Amino acid sequence: MFGRERIVTAAYSCLLEQKWHTFPIEPARFHFSCPVISYQEYARLSNVSPAVFLEYGYDGFSVAGLKGQTFILYNDQSPLCRQRFTVAHELGHLLLRHQGHIRRHEEEADFFASLLLLPDAVLNLLRSRGISLTEAFLMKTFGVSRHTAQYKRAAFTRPPICHPLDQQIEALFFPEICRFASAAQSSFDELEEQYLGYNR
Ligand SMILES: [Zn+2]
Repeated sequence: MFGRERIVTAAYSCLLEQKWHTFPIEPARFHFSCPVISYQEYARLSNVSPAVFLEYGYDGFSVAGLKGQTFILYNDQSPLCRQRFTVAHELGHLLLRHQGHIRRHEEEADFFASLLLLPDAVLNLLRSRGISLTEAFLMKTFGVSRHTAQYKRAAFTRPPICHPLDQQIEALFFPEICRFASAAQSSFDELEEQYLGYNR
């Protein structure tokens, strides 16, 4: 098993630095020292056909220029949920300082992406507010694929593991969580009203 704590620290630190506090989390919109560019945008800037990038990877990849500047490139013709995951995965490689493509690095980058897009501290807080973390809820609220929602739910059924940055992440997302929790509550209230009205 890879170093979980190190990966949680990297993902949470990234969210805190970016001050990103709403759902879904959009890593392609982070202000980062590493430019994140879509295949189509890069093709427009460079007059290179986007088809060239597809040979490197369907979803995306990162590449370093001659002077060492890293770029993350992603395919913006793929579904949005896939774009989010791809950029988050590539950011994971970068922030975890991976060199070369080995299987453990791919697993770490996937785990990083699942934490960046679906932070455990946020999910725990939603759950404590009575929100059921179904696959459909995770997909809709966090803009992730069914596969990512399933991956997260499988990892999340274990007892929550505390992390020193949990409280800071909870504080960052707290207004958004309250908004969701109250929207969920008012939908229950509406449902109750409809139900009572129906039975009257
Ligand atoms: Zn990778």
